[in-house]
Amino acid sequence: MRVFKFGGASVKDAAGIKNVYDVLQQVGYEDVLLVVSAMGKTTNALELVIKDYFEKSPSLQASVQEVKKYHNQILMDLFEDDKHEVFQAVQHLFSDLEYFLSHNKSPNYNFVYDQVVSYGELVSTTVLSHYMSFRGIQTQWIDVRHFIKTDANYRDAEVDWELTKNNIASNVKRKMLNVTQGFLGSDENNFTTTLGREGSDYTAAIFAYCLNAESVTIWKDVPGVMNADPRYFENASLLNQISYREAIELAFYGATVIHPKTLQPLQKKEIPLYVKSFINPLLKGTVVSKGVALEPYLPCFIVKRDQLLISLSSIDFSFIMEENISEIFALFHEFKIKVNLIQNSAISFSVCVEDKFGNFKDLNAVLSKKFKVDFNEHVTLYTIRHFNDLAAEMVEKDKIVILKQVSTETMQIITSEKQ
Ligand code: ASP
Ligand code: MG
Repeated sequence: MRVFKFGGASVKDAAGIKNVYDVLQQVGYEDVLLVVSAMGKTTNALELVIKDYFEKSPSLQASVQEVKKYHNQILMDLFEDDKHEVFQAVQHLFSDLEYFLSHNKSPNYNFVYDQVVSYGELVSTTVLSHYMSFRGIQTQWIDVRHFIKTDANYRDAEVDWELTKNNIASNVKRKMLNVTQGFLGSDENNFTTTLGREGSDYTAAIFAYCLNAESVTIWKDVPGVMNADPRYFENASLLNQISYREAIELAFYGATVIHPKTLQPLQKKEIPLYVKSFINPLLKGTVVSKGVALEPYLPCFIVKRDQLLISLSSIDFSFIMEENISEIFALFHEFKIKVNLIQNSAISFSVCVEDKFGNFKDLNAVLSKKFKVDFNEHVTLYTIRHFNDLAAEMVEKDKIVILKQVSTETMQIITSEKQ
């Protein structure tokens, strides 16, 4: 079996969904499992619904309406005849969502979040599978929540591999096109859970692992894994082949093309991962597979913007040692602040972090009781794998370098733009 993943950008409108059909025509759809994300920016739109819901905002209705309207337009463009049964199926899902919003009593934000955002994927797969049938491809729609079981850590649920393996092994039909939702799972009580934002790649890997799939293909709007983000670097080139290890390193440093959790299950069973263009599906793209070194040996650039560089020094000139460092890390963990680089000297300790949830102010209040805290906001962290002088020069040009760290394979540079 082959597992294909189509992300939000690939199904953002009717043309995108028609294109999925065209891709399948070209590459085959027998014995295939399609993992599909919510359409376009639907997850963000549903996040707004959740925000409005908790703030009891008068715009809640309008936010829900926005999501409905967007999908309805896609349905009209795809099916033309609004008597088609898909209209009712989608209407049904939105009624369930509205029912949940008007009856829910749980004050747990993360729980509500998962129950609500999941409609993005439930709707997208419903539309897609109806469309494939409409065009004559026999399709089986699968509710992923019957297969992927997780703990109840809403918004970042952990997979229960034993249960999931058993469910998948005994229930996925071979020899046809299966369509299921990325990103979702369910807990012991059958409440919906999610695997973390952008988690659909991971869903594809979970299925591939449990099905001993022949391969996973992630269909993208880029030709494959590039050595740099073409939006920020001229002359970005395609990497034809990379090893699992290299891909894990790239994902770890923030390359967004592959979700970091995706690689581990694939690497364990040596299932190759293809990253290909949904615009040119017959082009080779990139293959991530066993043991092959990065070929050709190109410097790879990863950019993380809007980082925060924090420097802590002891107030009394005492050393920053193991016990303070472990305490500092426990605090970062507690405040959900992700550390992307660490550098320490005798009396100071610097970390480059990402404050996704806006918790730094509170953390700073705690840290300032024990340390002198300095920080630079809105800095950029560049990581160059397989760096050379030219690559470093390119990054440093016209910028102020605040910190630089070099290891055998990797150079990291923190810069602030020259004003
Ligand atoms: N729809 C989810 C998100 O946008 C999952 C995914 O796209 O992978 O985060
Ligand atoms: Mg998405």
